[in-house]
Amino acid sequence: MSLPTQTREIVLASRPNGAPTPDNFRLVERDLPALQDGEILVRNTVMSVDPYMRGRMNDVKSYVPPFQIDQPLDGGAVGTVIASRAEGFAEGDSVLHGLGWRDVAVLPGARASKVDTADFSDSAYLGVLGMPGLTAYAGLMAAAEFKAGDAVFVSGAAGAVGSLVGQIARLSGASRVVGSAGSAEKVARLKDLGFDAAFNYRDGAVRDLLKQAAPEGIDVYFDNVGADHLEAAISSMKLDGRIAMCGAIAQYNATEPACAPRNLTLLIGKRITMRGFIVSKYNDLQQEFRQTVGPWLADGSITWDETVREGLDNAPQAFIDLLAGANTGKMIVRLD
Ligand code: NDP
Repeated sequence: MSLPTQTREIVLASRPNGAPTPDNFRLVERDLPALQDGEILVRNTVMSVDPYMRGRMNDVKSYVPPFQIDQPLDGGAVGTVIASRAEGFAEGDSVLHGLGWRDVAVLPGARASKVDTADFSDSAYLGVLGMPGLTAYAGLMAAAEFKAGDAVFVSGAAGAVGSLVGQIARLSGASRVVGSAGSAEKVARLKDLGFDAAFNYRDGAVRDLLKQAAPEGIDVYFDNVGADHLEAAISSMKLDGRIAMCGAIAQYNATEPACAPRNLTLLIGKRITMRGFIVSKYNDLQQEFRQTVGPWLADGSITWDETVREGLDNAPQAFIDLLAGANTGKMIVRLD
C-alpha cells in the first residue's frame, strides 16, 4: 500500500472572544514533508480534546505556548506507525504523541512513546492511563496531600479527571466522597461510580448544595471549576483542609476577569492550604500512578467513561461541546 503524501489538519482560523465557535477553526490539506532519519510517519487513530486547549486559543503567555493563526492545533493523539526511520519503532507499532488535530503526522521518534493496545484501547492512553489519569492521581495524592479518612469533594466530577479523583479517593480510604456535575444524568452516574453523595450545581447555590452533601465538612477539595465552587468549598472546609487547584473551567470562556472567592480570609483561621499544580510537575509519579491504579483498572474497581465523536471534521465541535459539558468521562475524537 502506498504511503500518504498529504494530511488533513485543523488550523486556528481566528481567536475566540468568549466561547469558541466553529469559525475559529478550519480544515486544510497539506503536503507532508519527506520522512527524515529519526522520524516516524503515524496514522492517528484517536485524538484528545482537552479544556487547556481553550487557553491556547488566546494570544497570552502561559505554561504552554498559544496556538498560532493559520497554523495547525496540536495535542494528545494515539496512532499507528506506517513508516519508520527511527530506531526502536516499526510499522504497526501504536504510539502516543503530541500531534493530534490531524489524520497523519510526521514526527521525531524521540517525541513518541510506544503503547500496548492489547490490554487497553488506544483511547485509554489519552484518558485514564494518560495525562488526565496522572492529573487525578498526583493532584489528589501530592497536591492535596490526601490521607485515609479525609472527606473529599471534587468538582467537574463526571469528567475525565474528576471521575477518577472520586474513585481513587474512595479506593484509598476516603471517609466520604462528594462530587458535583452539571446534569441529573451525570449525578446518577457518579452514584454508580461509588460517590457517597453528588449534586447538580445548576439546582441551587453551590454553597448550600455542598453543605447538604457534606454536612460534617470536607478535608480536601479538588478544584476543576473555580468561581462559586471554590468559594463554597472554602466555606465547607474543616481545620487543616487542603485545596488542589487543578482547573477553573467556569472561567475559561470569560471575557472579564472573575472575582476572587469572597471568603479567602477563612484560610487563616481554618489553616487551609491552597496549591495550584500542573500535571507535568508530577511526571516522577508516573510509575507509582500506573502501579497503584493499573490493578484497579484491571480488576474493575475503577471504571471510566468516554464520549466519542467520529472524524477529524467533527473535532472542533467536540471541543466546543466539551467546554459546554456534553461529555461524560473523557471526550475523544476517533479518526480511524
Ligand atoms: P472534563 O472531562 O471534566 O470536561 C470538562 C467539563 O467541565 C465538562 O464536561 C463540564 O461538565 C464542566 N464544565 C464546563 N463549564 C462549567 C462551569 N461553568 N461550571 C462547572 N463545570 C463546568 O475535562 P478534564 O477532566 O480534561 O479537565 C477537568 C479540569 O482539569 C479542567 O479545568 C482542566 O483545565 C483541568 N486540568 C488541569 C490539569 C493540570 O495539569 N492542572 C491537567 C488536566 C486537566 P458539567 O456538565 O459537569 O458542567
